[in-house]
Amino acid sequence: MTSAEGVGAGQSASETSGSQQQQQRQPCPNGFDPFRDAREIVRLVQCSICSLPLRHPMALPCGNIACRGCLPEAYVRRGVSYPDLPERKLGFICPAVGDCRKEHALADCGVDVTLAKVVEHFNSVLASGKMGSDDSSQEKRFGRLRSLYVLAKDGRLAYDEEIEFDEEKEGDGTDHQLLAAIKEAACSEMECQVCYALLVDPVTTQCGHTFCRQCIQKVLAHSLHCPSCRTKLQLPSHIPAKSSNKRLTEILVVLCPGELADRATSNTTAEPQDEADDLTTPIFVCASSFPSMPTPLFIFEARYRLMIQRAWEGDKLFGMVLPNFVSNGVGDAEGTPFMEYGTMLQIESIQVYADGRSHIWTVGVSKFKIRKWGYRDDYLIAKVERVDDFPLADEEAFEQSCLGVNLGHPHSSPLAPGQTTMDAFRICADFCDRMISINSPWASPNVLLTFGLRPEDPTLLPYWVASILPIVDQEKYRLICSQSVRERLFITVQWINNIERIRWWV
Ligand SMILES: [Zn+2]
Ligand SMILES: [Zn+2]
Ligand SMILES: [Zn+2]
Ligand SMILES: [Zn+2]
Repeated sequence: MTSAEGVGAGQSASETSGSQQQQQRQPCPNGFDPFRDAREIVRLVQCSICSLPLRHPMALPCGNIACRGCLPEAYVRRGVSYPDLPERKLGFICPAVGDCRKEHALADCGVDVTLAKVVEHFNSVLASGKMGSDDSSQEKRFGRLRSLYVLAKDGRLAYDEEIEFDEEKEGDGTDHQLLAAIKEAACSEMECQVCYALLVDPVTTQCGHTFCRQCIQKVLAHSLHCPSCRTKLQLPSHIPAKSSNKRLTEILVVLCPGELADRATSNTTAEPQDEADDLTTPIFVCASSFPSMPTPLFIFEARYRLMIQRAWEGDKLFGMVLPNFVSNGVGDAEGTPFMEYGTMLQIESIQVYADGRSHIWTVGVSKFKIRKWGYRDDYLIAKVERVDDFPLADEEAFEQSCLGVNLGHPHSSPLAPGQTTMDAFRICADFCDRMISINSPWASPNVLLTFGLRPEDPTLLPYWVASILPIVDQEKYRLICSQSVRERLFITVQWINNIERIRWWV
């Protein structure tokens, strides 16, 4: 150990009693004390793998952090056929200390821009030898924070190593000054670029930018791009389940406890929403509709004429659900006259006849689940919750589990035989192309004119097949409920197998 004040590196923890240690680890009432909690504070910027101050910190999808150089060498991931994107094929097993141990796609990890800047500020305050031109001795004015940081930087302070301090010593204020200097420099870096206030529940995107969870969710509701760099991001419905950035959360607690508490209270007061006015989506109980697919409709019932007219004059949206075909209903649809999952349709054009009946042309925009419902002028209105497909990482993990890929040992387990997601896509696509080439009535030029050419996108092909094949609504409903591309493709493969079997026997 060096001449640093009050620090005895490498001393065993047994030299202090358990209760003393307990006391030492507890933050003081006003948050962290830079003198007493110096070890915790320096650990905030140490890599848990190499123990050095973080270098190019990578934000992992599990919320953990590792230096870019500390990530294990990437390998070609097994059992991932969909999405068929080269940038998702490389991955590694999470090296973070803790319980993750999952495979991460390299594409889901980015340099944590905010954390990198915060680490820089720690470094510029703690690594500089300069300290006020005070007449007290250099050793005394060095401070615990700086001593520990220098040890860490020299590679002589393991990430989980504890340090026993001389309990008798009192701080001379140096550490308070150091922490204040870090705070002054670092807190402005931890502002959300959406709300321009201190980050609350920070979530880091795969491009490495960090926002308050609520802020990024709101932004993604009307844009699919990162507000900082325009990278295409996940869907807003994926944000609630996303891991918080663990390291930034810890740093915020230590550096800005007061501001954080203020933010938390102002956030909760802005929270309550008017519950009364949430039945805003008109609901049409009629047919199966699918995202991106057209649904032409003939409107003749008076209540639906009124509903469609109002939608056309408003946002042009209404929800389409199937009538309840399960005797007692299932799940939340128990006892309701409709099924709980449906498709949001947008009216593209409308042709009204002299007697008030009309033809409308609609296209599916998204899927939803009905949360609450009631009536308005004889038609249904509901509070709906958007239902999106699972995040790509979950879709990939689903395929891997179906194919029996053992992720703990990426290099040793042979691929179990099984059909990949893209195999299922090929089966469906080949069947469709065959039907088109033999001029099947299901895939006649007229049908193609209405529903478009056979989609190349695996997310859409099952919807297209369901739109043109004569399949009962109960079966089609399985596609509306499903949030997995793989699952929808395999449902479609089942239909195709059944049709081929019938054709064979006939
Ligand atoms: Zn490292
Ligand atoms: Zn992880
Ligand atoms: Zn924000
Ligand atoms: Zn970004």
